[in-house]
Amino acid sequence: MRFTIYPAPNPWTPEKVKAYYRDPKVEWINGGELVSGGAIAASGFYVVHFCGNTDCCRPEGPFQSVDEAREWSHANLVPEVPRHA
Ligand SMILES: [Zn+2]
Repeated sequence: MRFTIYPAPNPWTPEKVKAYYRDPKVEWINGGELVSGGAIAASGFYVVHFCGNTDCCRPEGPFQSVDEAREWSHANLVPEVPRHA
C-alpha cells in the first residue's frame, strides 16, 4: 500500500500576513535579552513578526509605546511584507 503525505496548508497567505502587521503583537523586551541575530541593545516595545517567535525572526524596535510600534508596523511592514526566516 502506498501513502502520499501532503504538506499541511500554510495558513499565512500574503493577505493574512498583511492583516497581522496592521495589528501586530507588540512586546516589551529588556536590553540584553537574546533574540534571533543577537542581544537586544535597548529596552523598549518591539513588533514581533508574524511567526510569533523572536528566536527565528528578530523583532523590530525599540519603540516608546505600543501605539508607536503599531503605527510603524502599519506604515512599514504592511506594504513590504517581511519574509519568514
Ligand atoms: Zn520567524
